[in-house]
Amino acid sequence: MRIAERISRLGTETAFAVSAEAAAFAAKGNKVYPFHLGDMNIPTPANVVEAAEKAIRDGKTGYCPNAGVPQLREVLAADVSASRGVEYTMENVVIQPGGKPTIGKFFLALMNPGDEVLYPNPGYPIYESQIEFHGGKAVPYGLIEGEKNFELDLDAIEDRITPRTKLMVLNDLQNPTGAECTQAQFEKLAELVLKHDLYVLCDEAYFDIRYEGKSSSFAALAGMTERCVILYTFSKKFAMTGWRLGAAIGPKEIIDVIAKINVNDESCSNHFIQYGAIEGLTGDQAQAKQILAILKERRDTAVDILNSIEGVNCFRPNATFYLYPNITGAMKKKGLTDYDSMRKAYLHKTGVSVCTRLHFGRALKGEKDFYIRLAYSGIDTPEINEGLGRLKVFIEN
Ligand code: PLP
Repeated sequence: MRIAERISRLGTETAFAVSAEAAAFAAKGNKVYPFHLGDMNIPTPANVVEAAEKAIRDGKTGYCPNAGVPQLREVLAADVSASRGVEYTMENVVIQPGGKPTIGKFFLALMNPGDEVLYPNPGYPIYESQIEFHGGKAVPYGLIEGEKNFELDLDAIEDRITPRTKLMVLNDLQNPTGAECTQAQFEKLAELVLKHDLYVLCDEAYFDIRYEGKSSSFAALAGMTERCVILYTFSKKFAMTGWRLGAAIGPKEIIDVIAKINVNDESCSNHFIQYGAIEGLTGDQAQAKQILAILKERRDTAVDILNSIEGVNCFRPNATFYLYPNITGAMKKKGLTDYDSMRKAYLHKTGVSVCTRLHFGRALKGEKDFYIRLAYSGIDTPEINEGLGRLKVFIEN
């Protein structure tokens, strides 16, 4: 079989392999506590489901416009304008089958072969995959432990900019670390973006998964609206991961290009579910709020137990549904020296299934500490208590 050369540059999400391993372990009759995958075990709000069902019955089963149902583009533009403090109209919005497709389409629209693209590492693995697949050069920047949360390594970002750097990926409210920029850090970053004439993919997948404070968008800074494409998704706020619905939001010139890519790729996103999304944005918000309340309780339960374990230090991020504890001390205590044996020991001895730092990119030079990532979006509070309780006993004994 002659597979095309470009496929050798296509990466993947290795977290799915952890899923398969956990499923195989569970199939043998073992109890598994699934902290590995960022899927959700919370139902989509009933009003959203009902609106989509009604749309099917009303015959919204043919193609719709390539850029999405106009009413959805309008209400999403209004919603994002209000929450970010930016003025978007429907011309700035192109609907996508999920948040993820915005990543590859952003690079297709703006990256030429050989262009350098800054991306976060540890970070969502699809950035590196899509940059390299489309012929760019992926240049990682790190995240560092601050006082209360992880922060972008702004010095590293500046150091890595060269005349070939054209684009940057910013995932504020970050997967896996929960990192969040302060306004001062946003401003410093905006200076760099202007100075070096960069365009930015603002992955705001977790903008609305927020428990304290208020999210803000890098796209709202002076001069940035023209340079940013926001990755928006319905997956998390409305627990719609499997529905596959999101959007790219940004300057009309770029959005038009992405709409043309839609024509070539999927023609349009699933028609009737867009009516569910309209209801999600404009209808009763009680269940969307309930999703946040459930997640917050899970976060607090998990953080409290993790921090009670000898050799584990965990921040309590205000947003996302991930935790990224430093487990260097716990590794030493158990005499573990590599990620794979640690992850397997946790699974086989306690049933706790996690991802490690290495599922979010290759470790950067100088990185010495060990981290795991726990997602609490797919596991209930009693199971969090039980699983992490077992992990504590395993690590401390
Ligand atoms: N961006 C980040 C940082 C994510 O963590 C995810 C999903 O986990 C996505 C984008 C894509 O999500 P979806 O395609 O479900 O909208």
